[in-house]
Amino acid sequence: MGEQWRVTVHKTCRRSGICAAQAPRYFSVDDDHRTRPPAGPVAPDPELIDVAEACPAEAITLTDLVTGRPVTAPAESAAGRGTREVRP
Ligand code: SF4
Repeated sequence: MGEQWRVTVHKTCRRSGICAAQAPRYFSVDDDHRTRPPAGPVAPDPELIDVAEACPAEAITLTDLVTGRPVTAPAESAAGRGTREVRP
């Protein structure tokens, strides 16, 4: 089994619906206007990192189910094109 993530929407969600609009295959809005994440683990997808970073309430967390650690954007993407400055 490959790497999998758990997607969580916390109570701090403002129900803006941005995530559901941005990534409808992962997020949905129920009849009570509550935002629902995927019901089960999902394959890693950079789109989820983008959505989590765009959430105005910082209510979305991604957890790597292998390590149990939060998933964050790789440093390489922030530095651009996989280059990273290395200092002695
Ligand atoms: S983008 Fe954030 S605040 Fe808006 S509905 Fe999704 S989880 Fe809630």
